[in-house]
Amino acid sequence: MPGTSLKDESISMAVCDREAAQPVPAEIPTSDFRPPAAVSRVGIMGGTFDPIHFGHLVTAEAARWEFALAKVVFVPSGRPPHKKDYPVTDAEHRYQMAVAATASNPAFEVSKVEIDREGYSYTIDTVLAFRRFYGPEVQLFFITGADAILEILTWKDVGRLLNECHFIAATRPGFQLNRLQETHPMLPVEGRHRIHLIEVPALAISSTDIRWRVQHKKPIKYLLPEAVEDYIHCQGLYRPHSRGVYGKG
Ligand code: NAP
Repeated sequence: MPGTSLKDESISMAVCDREAAQPVPAEIPTSDFRPPAAVSRVGIMGGTFDPIHFGHLVTAEAARWEFALAKVVFVPSGRPPHKKDYPVTDAEHRYQMAVAATASNPAFEVSKVEIDREGYSYTIDTVLAFRRFYGPEVQLFFITGADAILEILTWKDVGRLLNECHFIAATRPGFQLNRLQETHPMLPVEGRHRIHLIEVPALAISSTDIRWRVQHKKPIKYLLPEAVEDYIHCQGLYRPHSRGVYGKG
């Protein structure tokens, strides 16, 4: 996959130890080189991940299991078009946190495809990049929050997007499903059956709440992987006037 991390970032000792114990023989092509023949369904986990937390990880694993995905590739947004007026943490920090969070799951990868692309991060461009890489036979599933999918009619090239991939909308407990169903009649007829829902209780955790907690010096332990917590504290993210933020406050 273009821009896919090989998980060799020096994020934590645990990651380094695991890789040292299981070296990949040089003759085995990595997923950056050629997709394995057995891959027929791939998940694209789209989000700002500011920061990534256990709700995202549980969602990805639930989607992988329920939809028989061979792998799930996390794609942190580069420059979200709908967040022009909001502060968003620098993409490199969000990418590093995603790599740290996913390191222990061999079915998870992280891609820089949106971060490396110039301009705003439109999902259609990302999905087409995956399509070019995996070819026409592979089924693509774009996984993200149901709140984001509610706005799908405003996304660039929504008709083409629904032709190219399925959507898995992850809902928090208490999400009113009828809000999503109300969007359906307005979607292109052929695309409606391509939006699927999964309810993920762990999505009671939210990035907004974690940022608020750090800002107010409250604990974030057990809401996200320890390596991500360490990264946040080491880099001084989410404190008042913290570094690594772009956009208007
Ligand atoms: P958002 O508006 O920040 O999030 C909406 C809700 O969905 C939040 O509650 C969020 O929780 C949750 N969420 C976000 N990503 C999730 C995921 N992968 N799994 C489970 N829950 C998730 O959404 P966003 O992150 O900016 O955008 C979501 C995706 O849609 C991104 O890939 C973005 O590029 C894409 N998008 C594309 C367009 C376009 O092409 N025009 C427009 C809008 C969005 P947390 O805050 O806890 O994550």
